[in-house]
Amino acid sequence: MRFGIGLACALLLAATTASLADEIPLDPAQNPPQELPAETGQTLPDELSRQPAQAAMQQEPSGAPAPSCFLNLPQDISIVIQTLGPSVSQDTNVAQLTQQMRAGPKRAGLERYDHALGVTDTRVNAKAKVSGQSVQMRDGRWCVKLTHVDVTVTFGIEVHLATELQPGTCPYRAVLQHEEKHVAVAQGLRQSLHDQIETAVVSAIKRSTADANRQMAIKRAEDEVQRFLDDTADAFYAASEVYQMQIDTPQEYDRVHRVCGDKAFGKIMQGQF
Ligand SMILES: [Zn+2]
Repeated sequence: MRFGIGLACALLLAATTASLADEIPLDPAQNPPQELPAETGQTLPDELSRQPAQAAMQQEPSGAPAPSCFLNLPQDISIVIQTLGPSVSQDTNVAQLTQQMRAGPKRAGLERYDHALGVTDTRVNAKAKVSGQSVQMRDGRWCVKLTHVDVTVTFGIEVHLATELQPGTCPYRAVLQHEEKHVAVAQGLRQSLHDQIETAVVSAIKRSTADANRQMAIKRAEDEVQRFLDDTADAFYAASEVYQMQIDTPQEYDRVHRVCGDKAFGKIMQGQF
């Protein structure tokens, strides 16, 4: 008979980044007037377009006839990270946690711990609200520059302990203490998430965006922000996984197992094979 328990793993779920698009008003009519003020809907006067320091298009250095889309406007970014949890729940049994664990990365040296008694989820959901200014260029195209980006990030940490663990028992405490190590790692990565999002948004809004259709120009600018946030979330999950897997060493699993012994864990694992 095989004997083994998987104590825990840090399971990082994919961000629901697809919802981001819904948060960005794609229809300019939905933008409050103050968010797309001044030049919106107006053709840029020629004299303004010749002032490079102004919010204006500049001629291509090469002297090409088509004006380039360049709006020299101040930009500001606000990032608020709301932390949810860490919460501890017992809404999942060993079989379900094990299924989650097996869907994750293979963990070398832990083959004999093939059942999961706890999982720590980290969830990141970033939503952006953007506003900017648009001007129509002399060739009729629209040039958009985002001037404000408000990013709201929910950063959730959830510990799931197997329903088979009885509160107050040694295995319950031992598994929870192990999961708390994953929680600490996740909390430690919070600031780096903020910094990564800030860097990404700065890059995403650096350029002005042009399109023949004003709505499409705005959408292009918004999509750029979304794409950078998507990439940031992916990179964050990948980096988190590396750090979290450093917790799950054979030595740590052996240590947790020894705390309560074969008998205590064996009782929980009855019927699991
Ligand atoms: Zn673990």
